[in-house]
Amino acid sequence: MPTTVILGAGIIGLATAHSLAELAPPDHRIHLVDPAPELFASASGKAAGFLAKDWFAPAIAPLGNLSFDLHRALAHRHNGRARWAYSESISYSLDRDFDDDSDDPDLDPGLASGSDRGGDAESPEEQRASGEPEDVHISGRNGSQGQGGLDWLRQNTSRASVLEGDLEKAHSDGGTSVDETDELPKWLRAKPDALQMISDRKSTAQLYVVSRTLCEFLLAQCLAAGVTLHQPARATKLWLDEDHPGSLTRIRVEYLGLLAKTIDGRARTVDIPCDNVVIAAGCWTPQVYTSLFPNASRIPRITHLAGYSVTFKAKHWPPAVPTPKADPQAPQAPSNPSLPLPRGQDSQVYLGASPTHAIFTGAHGFSPEIFSRVAGDVWLGGLNPATAALPALPTDAQVAPAEVAKLLAVARSLCGEDIELRSQALCFRPVSATGRPIISRMHVADLGDGVKPRGHDGAGGVFIATGHGPWGIALSLGTGRVVSEMVLGRATSADVSALTRW
Ligand SMILES: Cc1cc2nc3c(=O)[nH]c(=O)nc-3n(C[C@H](O)[C@H](O)[C@H](O)COP(=O)(O)OP(=O)(O)OC[C@H]3O[C@@H](n4cnc5c(N)ncnc54)[C@H](O)[C@@H]3O)c2cc1C
Repeated sequence: MPTTVILGAGIIGLATAHSLAELAPPDHRIHLVDPAPELFASASGKAAGFLAKDWFAPAIAPLGNLSFDLHRALAHRHNGRARWAYSESISYSLDRDFDDDSDDPDLDPGLASGSDRGGDAESPEEQRASGEPEDVHISGRNGSQGQGGLDWLRQNTSRASVLEGDLEKAHSDGGTSVDETDELPKWLRAKPDALQMISDRKSTAQLYVVSRTLCEFLLAQCLAAGVTLHQPARATKLWLDEDHPGSLTRIRVEYLGLLAKTIDGRARTVDIPCDNVVIAAGCWTPQVYTSLFPNASRIPRITHLAGYSVTFKAKHWPPAVPTPKADPQAPQAPSNPSLPLPRGQDSQVYLGASPTHAIFTGAHGFSPEIFSRVAGDVWLGGLNPATAALPALPTDAQVAPAEVAKLLAVARSLCGEDIELRSQALCFRPVSATGRPIISRMHVADLGDGVKPRGHDGAGGVFIATGHGPWGIALSLGTGRVVSEMVLGRATSADVSALTRW
C-alpha cells in the first residue's frame, strides 16, 4: 500500500496530511513526524491568522486564490466561525499620525461617537484645496511588491504596502470613506480621517491560531482519518533493506524526550517503508533535507525572519452591542466584557455576523499590523528583528521583554492605557531565496547519490513545501491541496509552476 511520510506538523504539513487523507485512496498510509515536544509553538500557532484572496505577486496569485476559497469552504462546512474563529475581515490603512487627542481612555473613541469627525484634521477635500499631498501613509508605499511579493517584509514595512497602486487609484477616485460603513474599528483611538478602507469583507478574512484552533482542527481530522503522528520524533535516515532486494525505501524515525528510550534503555525507533517523503519543516527544512540527503548537490535555501507579537483585551472590542448588520440568531455579547478567551469547540461566538478588522500603519519606527478578532481579543505584531537567531526547536524561542514593551507601547497608544495583556510570542517565518514559497517535487539529481524513495508511475518521490514567509496561514490549504495532488500524480488545482523553481 502506498505510504507518504510528512516531516513537519506546522500548518503546511498538517494541511498536506489533511488534503492527502481526503484525496488518496483509503489504503494510502500517511505519517506525520515532528520533533517539538509541543505542537504549534512555531509560527503556525502564533501568527495573526490574516487571510487575503488577491494580495499576492502574480507567481503566487493562483495559489492565493485557491487557498482563500478552500479556507472559506472549510469554515462553512465545519462551522469555522465557532471552531477556529474564522471571520470575514475589513482592512484599513491608518495614517501614522493616528492619535485622536482623547486623553480619557473611558471615552469611546472618536470613531464611535463621531465627535472628533472634522476635528483638527484636514479632510481630503481640504487637503486638495490646500495643495497638500493626499497620502494614506501606508509604510513601504515606495517599495514594489517584486516577484516574490515579499519586498515589504524585507523593508520592514507592512503587507498592505502591496496594495499601493490600488490605494493611490482609490484615493484619486475619492476612495471608500470610512463613514460609508457602519462596521468601523470602534476600538481604535484614531481620528476617522486617518483611516482608509483598503479591502472589504469579500477579499480578506481572519482565523484564530493563537489558541491554535485551525491547526488543532486539522490535526484532529487527520487523526480521525487514520493519519499516524510521531511526536516528539525526528527522521534520521533513509535506508534499504539489503536482505529484501526490491523492497521499499525505509525512513528511520527516532523518538525523542520521554519516548526516546525503550524500557531496556535502547533508542526507540521505527522504520517506515515509504513511497513519498514530504518535507514541510518551515525554517528547519534545510536541516531535514541535509540529514536525509547528505550528498545532495543542491539544498533548498530557507532563512528565517523572526516576528514578535502580543495579544490583549481592549476596552471597546468586542462591541457591547451587536452592529445592525449582525446576525440576530447569533449568540449575543456577554455582559462581562473581560471574558476568558474561548478555546476550541467551547468558543463562544458573540460577534454575530459582524466582521473583524485589520489595521496597517507605521509608527514607533516600524509597521504595526493590528487585528481585532472574533474571539474577543486584539493581536498586534510587525516587529521583526533581523538578528534573532533560529532556535533548535520552536519551543526553545526566548521572548525578549524589551521587544514586547515596544509592542505594548503601540497597543496603548492605539487602544488606551487600560489594555490587558493576554499573551506574547516570538516565532519564525520561513523565507526562500526568491521570496516565493517552494512547492516542488525534487528532481532525483538534486538528492545526491544516496538512498531515496523511489516513487512510482511518475508520481511519488520527495517533495518540498516551505518558504511561505508571512503568508503561510493564508496559503496553507491551497498548498496542502496542491502537494497532495503532486504526490498522487494528478494535475494541480492551481498553477504553481513558478513555485517549483528554487
Ligand atoms: C509574527 C508572525 C505573524 C504572521 N502572521 C501571518 C498572517 O496573518 N497570515 C499568514 O498567512 N501568515 C502569517 N505568518 C506566517 C505563517 O505563520 C508562516 O508562514 C507559517 O506558519 C509557516 O508554516 P510552516 O508549517 O511552513 O512552518 P512552521 O509553523 O514553522 O512549522 C514547522 C514545523 O517543523 C517542525 N520541525 C522542526 N525540525 C524538524 C525536523 N527535523 N523534522 C520534522 N519537523 C521539524 C517544527 O517543530 C514545526 O512544527 C506570520 C508569521 C509570523 C512570524
